[in-house]
Amino acid sequence: RQYAEGKELLPKIAMLGGSTIDGSKNKALADKISYFSGDITTLEIDAIVNAANSSLLGGGGVDGAIHKAAGSRLVEECKTLGGCDTGEAKITGGYRLPAKYVIHTVGPRGEKPDLLKNCYTNSLKVMLANKLRSIAFPCISTGIYGYPNLPAAHVAAYAVRKHLEAHGDQVDRVIFCLFMPEDKEIYEQLLQSYFPLE
Ligand code: ADP
Repeated sequence: RQYAEGKELLPKIAMLGGSTIDGSKNKALADKISYFSGDITTLEIDAIVNAANSSLLGGGGVDGAIHKAAGSRLVEECKTLGGCDTGEAKITGGYRLPAKYVIHTVGPRGEKPDLLKNCYTNSLKVMLANKLRSIAFPCISTGIYGYPNLPAAHVAAYAVRKHLEAHGDQVDRVIFCLFMPEDKEIYEQLLQSYFPLE
C-alpha cells in the first residue's frame, strides 16, 4: 500500500457529514484499510460486496462477474430475497467464490451522495450483524450507473471512516477493490486523506 500526499483534504472531510473526524484514531483505522487492483471475485475474504440492481437477479459489470464466479446457486438464493431497494444491503452465501459471503447492495443511478453512503454503511452493518470481520467493496455505482468516480470515492472513504470510528474494534480489514486504473489513481490520493498513516 502506498499513499500519495493529500492530507490537506482531511479538515474539509469533517464537513461532509456534519460530524467531525476523530484524529486520535487515525493510526488504528489506517491499519485496517487496503486497496486491491483487480477482480473482486478472486478475493479470499469474509465478504465481497456486489453492486447489484434492485432485482438482485444478476446483471452486467461486477454483478455479472460475481454471479459467473459464484455459480447458479447464487441466483437461486437471490430469488428468495425479494429484491433490494437502493441504498439497502442483503447477504447471501458465496458458493463457488473464495469469499464466504456476498453482500448485495443497490447503488443509485447518478450522483446521489446520501444513497451511495447508505450502500457502504448498510453493507458494513450487515457485515457486523453477521459477525464478519473482513470485507471488500467495488466502486459502487461508478460503472453502468454513472456516478462520477471522484465524488463517489469521497463518499466511499467517508462512510467507511465513520463506520470504523464507531465500530472499528469489530472490523479487521476493509478493502477497496479498484478495477479501473482511474480509481486506483483517485484512491491512492484519497486514502491518505481519510486514513492518514500517522
Ligand atoms: P454499477 O451498476 O453500480 O455502476 P458496475 O458493475 O457497472 O456497477 O461498476 C462498478 C465498478 O465495478 C466499476 O468500477 C467497474 O469497473 C467495476 N468492476 C467491474 N467488474 C469488476 C470485477 N470483476 N471486480 C471488481 N470490480 C469490477
